This record gives sequence, C-alpha cells and structure tokens, in this order.
Amino acid sequence: MKIHQLPDEVASQIAAGEVVERPVSVVKELVENSIDSGATDIRIRVEGAGKIRIEVEDNGQGIAPDELTLAVSRHATSKLARAEELFQIQTLGFRGEALASIASVSHFLLESRVAEQPVAARIEVEGGKLLRQSSTGAMTGTLVRVDSLFYNVPARLNFLKQDSTERSQIDSFVTRYALAYPHIRFSLYQDGRQVLQTSGSGDRREVLSRLFGLETARQMLGVLFEDQDIRIEGFISPLAITRSNRREIVFFVNGRLIQDIALTSALVQAYANMIMVGRYPTAYLFIQLPADQVDVNVHPAKAEVRFRKPDILFSALQRAARRALLAYSPLAPEVNSSVLINRQNEPAGWTPAAPILEVGSPDESGAESFASDAGAWQSPRLTNDLPLLRCLGQLGATYLVAEGPDGLYLVDQHAAHERILFEQYRSNPTVVASQQLLSPVVVHLQPGQARLLEPVLPAVKQFGFDIEPFGQNSYRIRAVPMFAYSSDPATLLRVLVEDFEEDETPFEGLIVDKLIARICKRVAVKGGQVLSVEEQRRLISDLEKCANPRTCPHGRPTMIHLSVELLERQFGRRGAR
Ligand code: ADP
Ligand code: MG
Repeated sequence: MKIHQLPDEVASQIAAGEVVERPVSVVKELVENSIDSGATDIRIRVEGAGKIRIEVEDNGQGIAPDELTLAVSRHATSKLARAEELFQIQTLGFRGEALASIASVSHFLLESRVAEQPVAARIEVEGGKLLRQSSTGAMTGTLVRVDSLFYNVPARLNFLKQDSTERSQIDSFVTRYALAYPHIRFSLYQDGRQVLQTSGSGDRREVLSRLFGLETARQMLGVLFEDQDIRIEGFISPLAITRSNRREIVFFVNGRLIQDIALTSALVQAYANMIMVGRYPTAYLFIQLPADQVDVNVHPAKAEVRFRKPDILFSALQRAARRALLAYSPLAPEVNSSVLINRQNEPAGWTPAAPILEVGSPDESGAESFASDAGAWQSPRLTNDLPLLRCLGQLGATYLVAEGPDGLYLVDQHAAHERILFEQYRSNPTVVASQQLLSPVVVHLQPGQARLLEPVLPAVKQFGFDIEPFGQNSYRIRAVPMFAYSSDPATLLRVLVEDFEEDETPFEGLIVDKLIARICKRVAVKGGQVLSVEEQRRLISDLEKCANPRTCPHGRPTMIHLSVELLERQFGRRGAR
C-alpha cells in the first residue's frame, strides 16, 4: 500500500478509541462541555446504561448556528488558540476532539441556541457523516443526544461491561461532579428514573448530604487548607469510617477529576497507623493550583495530569488531612481533664498500680515523636485519655484484665505490646541498643525483595540493625536491635521487606514508621503466651505511657472497655426497662 492521509472519519474513529472508551466517557465529555459553557443547570438522561441513549442538556451560552458543524469536526475548539496557552488552561476541554470522536461512533444530534438567536440550530450526524441540518424552538443552551453508541464498532461494544456496571460508573461520575460543582444544579435520570438531583445552591455540605445521606454527611470531616498558592477543600472520612479499597478517594485538580496514584497514597499515608491495615479512607478533595503548576495535556481522556512540584503538593495534602483528623480525632482530646475528673470518682480503696502518669508533661517523648512524622507535619502535643489501670490477671493467656476508675478493660497483650514497642522505638530511634550476634548471619533475598530493601537500609541501620550487602541479593546481619535479639535474624530481615507496596513509599519518615511497626509486630509477645504477674503489670503500665494506647500501630484496637455504666445496665442495676 502507498502512504496516504487517512480520511477524516477514520482518523476520528481512531481518536475515539482513546477518548470514548465506554458510556461514562461520553457523559464525562458532554458534562465537561456543559460546565465550560457556563451552565448552571445540567440534565443528564441515560437509557440502557448509555448503550441506547445518552442525552445531556444545559443552559449554557450555546453554540452559534454557523459553528455547529465545526464543533463536531476534529481539532475544532473555542477554548485554545495558541500552543503557549496549553500551560494556562482554565477550561476542562481544549483538545477539540470529543464531539468529533463521539459523533464518529454513534447516531449523534446536536442542538444549540445562543441568546442572540430566536431559534436553535440542529445537526444530525451518523458515523461521522453529516445527515441533516435544521432549526427548532428551544431555550438558550445546548442539547447533545448520543444514540446507539459504538453501533459501527462492534469490537468496542463487546468490551462493555454489564449494564449494572456501566450504569453505576455513570452514577458515580455524576455524583463526583455534582460535589465538585455545588453551584451547578445537576440531575441524572436512568431509564426515566431520577437517580440524582442537586440544588445548585453552592453549599457543598448540602450536596454531600443529598448524595450520601445526612448521617454520612455529618460524619465526614471538613478540609479547608491554604498554603501559598495551594488550596485544598473538601471532605475526608473520620477514622471510624473505612473501606476495603481506594476507589472512593477522589481528587479534583482545578475542577478536573483526575486519577493519581501518588496523590492517593499521600492521603492514605496521612491515616497510617490509625486505621487498620487493608482498610482505606474515603475522600473528596478539591485542589486548586495555579494553572501553570499542572500539565493537563498528558492523556487523551485528560484523566491524568502532571504536577510541576509534586512533593510540595503531597506534603500540603498530608498536612491538610492530618489537621482535619486531629481537629476531630478522639486521639487528641482538646482538654485532657478526664484523668483528674475520674480520680475524684474513684471507688474507695482503689489504688493506682503504676506511678501517676503526668498528662502532657514535657518529657512525654512518645507524644513528641508523633509530631515529627514525615518531618512535614507539626502538630499540637497529643496526650492520651487512658485512666490509670490496675492489672487483675491474664485471660486465656491472651488478654489482660484490668480495672480502672471507669470500669473494666480487656487488653489484647499482643496488640498492646506492639503499640508499646512501637512508641518506645520511635521516640528514640538513635539510641536504640544494638546487640551483636554471636556469629553473623547471611541472608539471601529474592531480587525483588533486595531491590526494596536497598533504599531503606540507612533507615534500618538507624534502629539497631547492622546489615551490609554481601554479594548479589545477599546481606550479612551482624547485629539486631536489643529487644529483637530472641527472634531469628533472617526472619526479621524478611519481615522488613514484606509486602512493600511500591506506590506507597514516597515519605521517608513514614517508611521508618512502617518498618518499625513491622518489627514490633514480629517481636511483640504473642497471644497464647503466659506472662508472669510482673510482666502483666509492666505491660499495662507501659501501655499507659503511650501517646496512642488504644490502637496498635496497624490500627487495631488494643483494648475493649466495659464501662461501669454498661455493667450496671447489663446487670439491671440502672436504667433497666
Ligand atoms: P473541546 O471541549 O476540547 O473544545 P469538544 O469537541 O468537546 O472540544 O467541543 C468542541 C467545541 O464545541 C467546544 O470548544 C465548544 O466551543 C463547543 N461546545 C461543545 N459543547 C458545548 C456546549 N454544551 N455548550 C456550548 N458550546 C459547546
Ligand atoms: Mg470538550
């Protein structure tokens, strides 16, 4: 075959492959066009999960009649004129590709009226070919109707998921945009049924409660953060609300819904050690940056962007999230008077088993070190709200039973010990005692593991290990931290690199935390281990000194509290009905 220029329809179909992957991509492009047109009311109607019909109607500024056919031709846009402007993009669209792409793979109708015209102009296009032009009565604004999507690309049609999946993608897309643009009134209908409706009042909390229900809206923590030219606004979940995946961690950057793994893990890191491993927060965050700080021209679907200064943004995001968490978190009571108040109610004859913990005393180094996480985060001092406990004994060689002024505590000895080791270790990593092994141990790792260990070696050395490379993928261990001396050194080393997720390592300070948490888990006393009375007491009193005594470093609870009130109710002594 000779080289030749592709006909326009073919080129458009190829481009459509990138821009229009599935029905929700059509909804996205059309809704973004409506937003760009200044609409304050956007109605979306979907039939048959978008395979039969997608219709988006807006009250924006419209398209002049003589520009209608231009709007559906390739590389035709009103939003960009010169290459320099690519770095100052203020609109969601700029590629001039969406309408042409969509029109090349569907039966397409575009109807639009500008305020200066008495009627709307209409064009109909099929598989990229103009069929008809006409005019009709309509209000100012634009209506796009996309019927029989992919009718001429059967391969694409085959790749679509079940209707329920395609439908829910559209639902969640519109939900997110409605939240991002509270000033716009959105309504979404699927097969004639109204799925979603917002008021356009501009109140984002109101949108949240309309979309997620009052209860969730009340629980979500508000984020409002400004630092130099970064502004972050939105909601994040409190520690008590988590999910099993990251799909509800949502970011908009300059009004654009984007996917960014690094940004997502920066947020997840802000919750590190506070929620359970394998659980994730939810977040709807709206980030504003100067246009020249973001390159949006990375991906045809514009779902990915590049940040000019990613580290500054990530650190701002973490500070924003930590601040919101701290402001509401039960880990950080505003005034810690509970110990004093409780003491007045102490049952007669109750004597503290441990020296009195001085709440907020300047040498509570555990609390101090919490503030130095990742170097970037400065927080007010945290103090714990745990009253003094008296250890009564061990249950099933796994739990400690303790009494406090406010009831009974069941303490998980393993989780508690993990927490204690974690805080002791972190509070003073530089002076952690190191114990020489009688004879050095050589450990051979898989290449992948070795690659993960290499960059964290300096951090590992900081806390008492003496490890050196010893030939390809092998390491020689000469010393281990004192408290880990009884564990098998080779296992310890493997634990260090276990299940490192590669996308979760951008923050030096948190890497160390993760490593410490892992080591602590390994060396902490296990469930099923019988402890002497002395060891039991020691564990409880060490736990009392922790800044965060109620959870282990992985976020699981260390204790269950049965309050006096609960006991009384259970025994029918009070408030029984
Ligand atoms: P882009 O959005 O990248 O410019 P599109 O193919 O999506 O490219 O749209 C082409 C042009 O059609 C836009 O630049 C805009 O001028 C016009 N347009 C599309 N949709 C609308 C709408 N809903 N209201 C007003 N103008 C629109
Ligand atoms: Mg567009």
